[in-house]
Amino acid sequence: MKKIIKVGPISCDRVNDLICELCGKETTRTDPVQIEGTTLCVCKDCSKFGDHAKQGTKEQPSKIIIQSRLENRERRMKSKDVYEAETVNELADDYPERIRHAREQHGWKQEEMAQKMSEKLSLVQKVERGDIKPDDALVKKLEKTLGISLMEKVSLVKPEKKAMAGKGITLEDCIKTSKK
Ligand SMILES: [Zn+2]
Repeated sequence: MKKIIKVGPISCDRVNDLICELCGKETTRTDPVQIEGTTLCVCKDCSKFGDHAKQGTKEQPSKIIIQSRLENRERRMKSKDVYEAETVNELADDYPERIRHAREQHGWKQEEMAQKMSEKLSLVQKVERGDIKPDDALVKKLEKTLGISLMEKVSLVKPEKKAMAGKGITLEDCIKTSKK
């Protein structure tokens, strides 16, 4: 029952770096199988979802499994095409407000906060004004001291999510910001 049905003239070699068309996994070889009436070049794992695998078994591959594998594939393919990573953690644009707001919530003066963090007052002031971007270590310190998060996930693949926040940011903008 391990036989793979070769379908038509299709050759899976057309996929340069051999990515399973069902789950998106990189694999050493793919085989064409019929799934839901479509021919897909899939990895060994996924070939069992091929229609031929239904013969002689009562356990049919569930559509849900296929659906979730397809979604996986979509994610992997997109991220691979664009950047390798679907989202990046970035310092939030409104970090000065977040810091000031959190500090005020705690009822701290800038001096007090600087003391708690063992940092200079001038540094706290500059960060709150947005004059300087805190580096990773400082961001962590700020987050810990204030109990807030200054990072936000920026989607590189689906910028429309950002646009929904009312900013209308395009993919290009995302690239620009991340290069700052
Ligand atoms: Zn697969």
